[in-house]
Amino acid sequence: MAYNFPVTRTLNPKEKPDPNDLPFGKYFTDHMFIMEYDKGQGWHDGRVVPYAPIAMDPASVVLHYGQEMFEGLKAYKNVKTGAVQLFRPEMNARRTNRTNDRLCIPPMDEEMYVEAVKAVVRADADWIPEVKDTSLYIRPFIFATEPTLAIHPSESYMFVIILSPSGPYYPNGLQPTKLYVEDTYIRAAMGGTGEAKCGGNYACGLKAQVIAAEKGYEQILWLDGQEQKYVEEVGTSNAFFVIGDEVITAPLRGTILPGITRDSCIRALKAGGYRVSERLLSIDEICRAYDRGEFREMFASGTAAIISPVGELRYKDKVMDVNGGEIGPVAQMLYDKIYGIQTGAVEDEFGWIEPV
Ligand SMILES: *Cc1c(COP(=O)(O)O)cnc(C)c1O
Repeated sequence: MAYNFPVTRTLNPKEKPDPNDLPFGKYFTDHMFIMEYDKGQGWHDGRVVPYAPIAMDPASVVLHYGQEMFEGLKAYKNVKTGAVQLFRPEMNARRTNRTNDRLCIPPMDEEMYVEAVKAVVRADADWIPEVKDTSLYIRPFIFATEPTLAIHPSESYMFVIILSPSGPYYPNGLQPTKLYVEDTYIRAAMGGTGEAKCGGNYACGLKAQVIAAEKGYEQILWLDGQEQKYVEEVGTSNAFFVIGDEVITAPLRGTILPGITRDSCIRALKAGGYRVSERLLSIDEICRAYDRGEFREMFASGTAAIISPVGELRYKDKVMDVNGGEIGPVAQMLYDKIYGIQTGAVEDEFGWIEPV
C-alpha cells in the first residue's frame, strides 16, 4: 500500500448504540480521518485520530462564504464472509474532484482518497452494524479554513472523514413516500452548482422542504430552474419514473447531481433488459401518462436509502397515486439487486465491491 496513514487510537472508546434501533446519521464512531491543505505544500499529514470537535478560526472562509463540499458512501460486512467492503468508492473520489473543481478547492489524488476512507473504516470496523438494512455511513467533507473576509478561493483547507453507524433511512422499510411538486422555489439553475455536491445546494432547498412538510408531504420533487417544466431531483436524491415500459431519469445537463446509485440503477436496469432513458421529462407528460393509466412507478435513488418508492405525487391541485401507494416491481428489483451486491448476498456481476 502506497499510503500508510498514522493511527492514534482513542483511550476512551464510546458505548456503541443498539444496532436494532439506529437512526440515520446520529451516532458517530471513535475515530475520524483528518488531512490539511496549505498553499505551496499541497494536501499533507493525513492521519486517523480520535473523534473530537475541531477548533477553527472564526474568520475561516467556510463560515462566511460557504466554500465546502461533501460526499457520502457506505461500508458493509459481507453477509457470507464477514469481510468489510465498500461500494464503488472510486466514484466518490472522482466526484469529489469534479465538485472541487467547481468550487475552486484543490484536487486530491483519487487513490489516496480511497485509501483514506479505508484507513478510518479499518480503525472503526467493529462499529459496522450487522443487522439487516444497517450499514456504516461514511461522510468525507472538505471545508475552507483560511482566516480572511476577502473573497478569493481559500489558501488552506481541511479534509475530514467521519463515520456513522446507521439504520434504514426510512425506519418503516420500503414504505412509499408522498411527494409535493415544488413550483415556486428552485434548487439549481443551468451554470449553477446543481451538479456539485455542496452544502449550499442543501441550505437553499430547506425552505421548500419545510413548506411541503407543513402540507403533509415528506419530500419535494424539484422542477428545472428555467421553465419549471421538467422534473429534476427528489429532495436530495435522483428521481426515476416508470411510464409504460420505459424507465426515465433526468439527463445530466448541469443541474442534476450525478448519483452513484443513479448510475448503478441505470446499469442494473440495462443489464436486466429494461428500456432506460436519460431524457427530459415534463411534469405535464407525467400528468398525461397518469390520466391514461400508464404512470406505473416512481422512486428516488441515493446512497442513504438506496431506493425510496413514491406512493403519491401532487402537482398543484392534481393528486396522483402511484402504483396504489405500494412499492412497484422495478423499485423492488433495484433495491434487492443493489443492496444484495453491497452486502455480498447477490453476486457482484459489475465489479462494484472494493475490499477494505
Ligand atoms: C448525494 C446526492 C444524490 C445521490 O447521490 P448518490 O451518489 O447516489 O448517493 C442525489 N442528489 C443530490 C442533490 C445529492 O446531493
